[in-house]
Amino acid sequence: MKFSQIQGNEQVVKALAGAVDSGRLPHALLLHENDGGGAFPMALAFLQYLYCSDRKDGDSCGECPHCNKISKLIHPDVHFVFPVVLPSSSAQSEHSPSEQFIPDFRTLALEKPVFTEGDLYRALGFDGKNPVIGVAEANALLRAFSLHSLEGGYSAALVYLPERMNTQAANKLLKMLEEPPAQTVFVLITHAPEKLLPTIVSRCQMFRISSPLVSAAESYDDGGLLSQLMVALLSRNLAEALSIGEQIAALPSRESAKGFCRYAAEKFRRVFLCQQGLSKLAGDDPEAAAWASKLSKRFPRMALAKLDRTVGMIDRNVNIKILFTELTDSLYMYI
Ligand SMILES: [Zn+2]
Repeated sequence: MKFSQIQGNEQVVKALAGAVDSGRLPHALLLHENDGGGAFPMALAFLQYLYCSDRKDGDSCGECPHCNKISKLIHPDVHFVFPVVLPSSSAQSEHSPSEQFIPDFRTLALEKPVFTEGDLYRALGFDGKNPVIGVAEANALLRAFSLHSLEGGYSAALVYLPERMNTQAANKLLKMLEEPPAQTVFVLITHAPEKLLPTIVSRCQMFRISSPLVSAAESYDDGGLLSQLMVALLSRNLAEALSIGEQIAALPSRESAKGFCRYAAEKFRRVFLCQQGLSKLAGDDPEAAAWASKLSKRFPRMALAKLDRTVGMIDRNVNIKILFTELTDSLYMYI
């Protein structure tokens, strides 16, 4: 994957290439995408650029042995980590848990580099289960990194969905980020930075990968219902907020109700980023910045979890009016 094959996100490409060119590469990058938003090809293009032995014009050559191995996802110094469900018999395997599923991971990522979390779980046979990144994964990574790179350059870990790490794994990763082995680089791809340990986030240089989904979701909120709802909530007018909640519930379809939730989630993630002092990553969204200063620190985390549940309930055909009344009530309490 070359940078020239990436759609949009020119600023991110420029920054990533610049970091490699300057020789001042951060030890950890956090790419924040909406599900299916194209962070994986971006991560791959970045690694290919980092390893390429014949870079030109701000891009990898695409032909050298390093480029070749990275594009096939078989470079020995690039480790892929993703959430898995292990059969109980394999708990003591010396291989990293992800490694046991790497053939199917490769097949998916090569066929469809812009995959979603759901695509991955379907490809690996985890549908309806609860895949996690466990401590065995972190230990395997530590072992691999302590061996130094096999080809004499960087060792890299691409961690897909670090928010799926359990506490032990997260603490271990944090330790690695605090005292990174020399010549190592972590690339984390997250859908929900608010679910990561703040100490992990603060160790990473963060990039927002924007995707067409965001603009599609925005089209669900033509009437500015979210803005009206937030005005009512912030002025502590619960009756007004509930009446706006009813208007949202009256959107023409379940799909549009879900679209509204996705749009609200995107906005609340921006609020979270603004509260962390990362308003640039929130696209310098003045509305999100204004809300961020008035909302509690717990608001984005709680609201995002509630929106997640609401979308799940919409899928299960629960009465939408009840769902949005509950959602409005909860948002009111989180403020
Ligand atoms: Zn190359």
